[in-house]
Amino acid sequence: MRLDKFEKYKLTFGPTPIETLPRLSAHLGGDVELYAKREDCNSGLAFGGNKVRKMEYIIPDAIKSGADTLVTIGGVQSNHTRQVAAIAAKIGMKCRLVQESWVPFNDAVYDRVGNILMSRVMGAEIELVDEGFDIGIRESWEAALADVKAKGGVPYPIPAGASVHKYGGLGFVGFAEEVRAQEAELGFKFDYVVVCTVTGSTHAGMVVGFAEDGRADKVVGIDASATPDQTRAQVLEIAQKTADLVELERGISDRDITLIEDYAYPLYGVPSDETNEAIRLCGRLEGMMTDPVYEGKSMQGMIDLVRKGYFPKGSRVLYAHLGGVPAINAYSYLYRNG
Ligand code: PLP
Repeated sequence: MRLDKFEKYKLTFGPTPIETLPRLSAHLGGDVELYAKREDCNSGLAFGGNKVRKMEYIIPDAIKSGADTLVTIGGVQSNHTRQVAAIAAKIGMKCRLVQESWVPFNDAVYDRVGNILMSRVMGAEIELVDEGFDIGIRESWEAALADVKAKGGVPYPIPAGASVHKYGGLGFVGFAEEVRAQEAELGFKFDYVVVCTVTGSTHAGMVVGFAEDGRADKVVGIDASATPDQTRAQVLEIAQKTADLVELERGISDRDITLIEDYAYPLYGVPSDETNEAIRLCGRLEGMMTDPVYEGKSMQGMIDLVRKGYFPKGSRVLYAHLGGVPAINAYSYLYRNG
């Protein structure tokens, strides 16, 4: 496998820490050891998160293209668009964001706090578009690209979640290589990695990275899109393209993709009571915050899978914390009483 042939623009602090979650593990019976790899603490760029790691392999291409504006898309409380706004500021480019109405929200400040607040402060030009959730390529984004061009700018296109981009999967191939180096220091290997999956390149990159030592299907994706067929197909396609890029000899097939569909309900961006219970439990036992859109659902999934005995006794499970907490500010009504 050849990740080293790709240029990388450093935006993260370096390898992210792995910590144990001893009180949560004990609370769940103590048969499984839970750990967290803290991608939420990966960078000083506006609270960081999984897109910063992906963008390290995309920015060299953006710079080479001669672009002056990063153009991307997400929901109103998108973590991805906030991270792209921060990166654009850091490298001295402009940023154009299309933010669609992916979530039926009912908090009065939903479009003014958290991620979108920070993107505004960092100088991104934001266009709010009344379109529903879809992880695919969107007309509104293509129109924004055309508009930047029409105004004399040079846009660089970054699709939702930086996923369906030729280099979108590389960052999380690097995550797997980083975990292998950390395992060598720790003196053991993780049996499972739990990851929240929506636009797919985080999961896809991990699948390729962990395929190198036979663990692709031990990456347990917890769907948070509530459109799991589309998400699964996108994970597979990105993983296959990324495997070709890094010259992974064995290739990737559908059998390598583990995607659990049971925790995304009721909708993308809307937490269930069980998601909120998982957020509270992890917060109260470990002081580790998760959000109602993404990591709250993967935390709920991991907790439920431990309770159901999905992980054999003695397993070491690594929870990939991908960030996302800024969005919780837009859900204040749900947590008025904690
Ligand atoms: N977790 C957080 C906090 C995110 O912002 C995202 C972005 O969509 C994900 C998980 C899912 O990652 P991906 O879109 O690469 O599947």
